[in-house]
Amino acid sequence: MIQPINRDTLFLQRKARLATPADRAVIQNLKDTLAAHRAGCVGMAANMIGADCRMIIAAVGPGALVLVNPRITAKVRPYQTQEGCLSLTGERPATRFESITVAYLDEQFRPHTQDFSGFLAQVIQHEVAHCDGVLI
Ligand SMILES: [Zn+2]
Repeated sequence: MIQPINRDTLFLQRKARLATPADRAVIQNLKDTLAAHRAGCVGMAANMIGADCRMIIAAVGPGALVLVNPRITAKVRPYQTQEGCLSLTGERPATRFESITVAYLDEQFRPHTQDFSGFLAQVIQHEVAHCDGVLI
């Protein structure tokens, strides 16, 4: 179900709790809400749609990748960039890493460890920061 975008910075600055299988409905809500904002949005964290669990979605081509309880375990080659956020106004500076390793659960709560680089890595870093209550 498409959810309203949360712009309450007090809520957004809270660290999200670990997601459990009881939070499965949030996965579909993230997919539906990202699809509704796809023109101007490449990723989303659960707290941006009012759910306080640790879960993110990133657009990949026409589809989307859902990462449950994502944790960045390695990051290399920092760079400076500017980012926008659906929950905030305007663009802001951010330090990101060209290549990251992420431990996460997939939609079926199966564990994975995967390397990401380039733009997808940037999106994941932005959304994982949301899970930690960190805004750009
Ligand atoms: Zn954001």
